[in-house]
Amino acid sequence: MARQADLSAVVRRIVAAMKKETVRGEVARYIPHLSGVSPDHFGIAIVTAAGEIVSGGDCRIPFSIQSISKVFGLTLALGNVGSRLWERVGRTPSDTAFNSISQLETEGGIPRNPFLNSGALVVADINLSGRSAESAIAELIGLIQSLACDDGICVDRELALGEAGTAYKNIALLNYIRSFGNISGPLDAVIDLYHHQCAIRMDCLQLACAGRYLMTGGAVLRDGRSIPEQVVHSINAAMFTCGLYDASGEFAFRVGIPAKSGVGGGILAIVPGVASIAVWSPGLDRNGNSVLGVRALEDLVQTAGWSLFVGGSRPMRQG
Ligand code: GLN
Repeated sequence: MARQADLSAVVRRIVAAMKKETVRGEVARYIPHLSGVSPDHFGIAIVTAAGEIVSGGDCRIPFSIQSISKVFGLTLALGNVGSRLWERVGRTPSDTAFNSISQLETEGGIPRNPFLNSGALVVADINLSGRSAESAIAELIGLIQSLACDDGICVDRELALGEAGTAYKNIALLNYIRSFGNISGPLDAVIDLYHHQCAIRMDCLQLACAGRYLMTGGAVLRDGRSIPEQVVHSINAAMFTCGLYDASGEFAFRVGIPAKSGVGGGILAIVPGVASIAVWSPGLDRNGNSVLGVRALEDLVQTAGWSLFVGGSRPMRQG
């Protein structure tokens, strides 16, 4: 495993390299509050299994976690209904965009996986379970605060309202899934919960801390509930196969670890048993994944020997 001194040097090198990059992608413009974010940002934070924290760049600037929230929503839902969740949502990769509607028609309103917008809307419906959107989002925030050991994490309500005002595709997806009977709660509450969870603000350090349970194989929350190993296994598997949408296969080849991206430019990536990593840079590629985030993870994982496909971590190589 990389020693902290090595890891700090690698992170410093990556931050300096990312600062110089000129091809940084395009920020998400379809969500009003994201269109004004500067593409110049880059932040990274790593928490290791030994409890070391190495971070750099804009690692303390909060950003909108967007679809990374689907990881935490799925964690809650699997805790609430267990494997029955998979009767309503598939768990295979898609070859369509994160907000695509087409596959729902041929697959009877069952979203292909929980990380597509369609899948996350069904997961939100499960998490709502007869309550108000307000209490369901409070439960999700409570989970994230507990995982990150940080009560400062909250929702950017203006961002959520801004997205809701232009969320024609998400509204279409929700209505379409409902027409197949795969949504049971009130549509406005389901979409409200979904948009509020996407608008959660975290910085890289908070996100890497919140992801530790996926590195360690579980967690005991401060309310006494625990996240079992089986849930962690399912989520890491879903992140690995579906976390970067139709670029998940490409990411497996380039990087080789489970990860989940969001259109705010963040990526949470896990080296099971070794590290929880968060990167953020707002410029996206055409699949909606952070350009510099993917590049930084590729560099870090190759340098540290953290790919799952090379037989475990090995001493740090540099240069
Ligand atoms: N809130 C965004 C949406 O619903 C999330 C998409 C994403 O991060 N990929 O489109």
